[in-house]
Amino acid sequence: LAGYKKPNTEGSVLQFKKQYENFIGGEWVPPAGGEYFDNPSPVDGKVFTRIPRSKKKDIELAVKKAHAVKERWGNTPAAKRSRMLLKIADVLDKNRELLALSETWDNGKPIRESLAADLPLASDHFRYFAGVIRAEEGGMSEIDAKTLAMHVKEPIGVVGQIIPWNFPLLMAVWKMAPALAAGNCVVLKPAEQTPVTVLLFAELIADILPPGVLNIVNGFGPEAGQALATCPDIGKIAFTGETTTGRLIMQFASENIKPVTLELGGKSPNIFTESVMAKKDSFFDKAVEGFTMFALNQGEVCTCPSRALIQESIYDEFMEKAIERVRNIKLGDPLDPTTMMGAQASEDQFQKILSYFDIGKKEGAKVLYGGDVFKNEHHPGGFYVQPTIFEGNNKMRIFQEEIFGPVVSVTTFKDEEELLEIANDSLYGLGAGLWTRDTHQAYQIARKIEAGRVWVNCYHNYPAHAAFGGYKQSGIGRENHKMMLDHYRQTKNILVSY
Ligand code: NAD
Repeated sequence: LAGYKKPNTEGSVLQFKKQYENFIGGEWVPPAGGEYFDNPSPVDGKVFTRIPRSKKKDIELAVKKAHAVKERWGNTPAAKRSRMLLKIADVLDKNRELLALSETWDNGKPIRESLAADLPLASDHFRYFAGVIRAEEGGMSEIDAKTLAMHVKEPIGVVGQIIPWNFPLLMAVWKMAPALAAGNCVVLKPAEQTPVTVLLFAELIADILPPGVLNIVNGFGPEAGQALATCPDIGKIAFTGETTTGRLIMQFASENIKPVTLELGGKSPNIFTESVMAKKDSFFDKAVEGFTMFALNQGEVCTCPSRALIQESIYDEFMEKAIERVRNIKLGDPLDPTTMMGAQASEDQFQKILSYFDIGKKEGAKVLYGGDVFKNEHHPGGFYVQPTIFEGNNKMRIFQEEIFGPVVSVTTFKDEEELLEIANDSLYGLGAGLWTRDTHQAYQIARKIEAGRVWVNCYHNYPAHAAFGGYKQSGIGRENHKMMLDHYRQTKNILVSY
């Protein structure tokens, strides 16, 4: 971020666009019922946009517009679709600062992260799927001397997508890019807490895609979200959000026998074996840094390493260093490029985290660091908490329930057997971190951890070509990686007899 200065938002799009509409069929369409809701910024607690409160009619209109163009889009040659996705990636790069600002105002995340992570990851994702779709090969095999079998991949048609508020743009892109690459039309509902960046994105790319290929309909989960998930005219519903909502989405999808992809909650263990402390070298430093990842994005990450498991023999010495490093996390104004931790995304989320501070204390966990609100003098009305370290045991609620804040619950293990017992004692299975200098141990433990992503000697990197998704109640299906295309396609078999 060299040379980046705190931005002046006076006169920017964010200052004058006070109300948005839905993006349907390439046009800005007011909600059929004429209702809007206030969207406050978690940075200062003040309302900065008004958003359509859409319902069934709005969803139906978007789905209709998508159907009108699905043949054309589905039959567009992959090379042409690919070029459009590349153009979208360029637009993201060109508007990096504007979109990053929007992410920060809408979600509260520090601008250094929006600029350095969310935006570059989003454009890379479009480029990855633009490339993958061109490298596809068809499949044909001979059944016998007179029969040929062709396998043709066809887009599903019109797909519904529902996303959460923690990475508003990136979560949308993770869903849109493969769906569009595979030739589908999309109706996407952003989270009601953070709709702005996706709407700005739609505005910026409006002339790249044919009208109706991408539609954004805003509103609340039980209204617009439910209308989308229950709509009989979509071919699939892809959802990211809480496990409890995921359960509902599955029920809705079952009404019309629609396939689902579910990316749900997590309670990821971050495991530090004794070899970490063998030397005080750069590996050790990296591991201590890895511990602090629970505070990244204010802990609002589905794979937040919210449980730290530390081998008994190194516990005291490791924790001393870890706490020292957490003390250095700079809290403050999210728009200041030196701020490392910003605001929680909403007042509800802020209150939920505070309630877990109480729950942890009441169930006897020891507060090793933090455990309170952070009074932000720049923005007294915003939603700020301290990064917090609890010490306790894995049976406690703070070890079992997803807090979705900058809170880590720490415990110890004696040996590999106990490590695995604790790590896998969770209804979730999304991510895990493992820090060891022993490559044999790394592979053996990684294979036994019940999680869809195991980071060994790293944490929180999300390359587009690495499959991502949950075991157990953390979800169904995968995102990222070229395998994602098949989550958005049907396979047709054509048997030809000569
Ligand atoms: P949420 O489930 O409350 O909401 C997610 C989306 O679902 C929102 O757009 C919301 O409006 C919609 N929704 C809510 N109720 C609905 C209903 N009845 N019908 C249809 N749609 C409905 O989740 P959240 O609080 O926005 O996000 C946080 C959660 O997301 C956490 O549990 C986190 O772990 C999870 N998450 C998972 C991943 C992953 O890839 N596994 C990534 C990011 C976030």
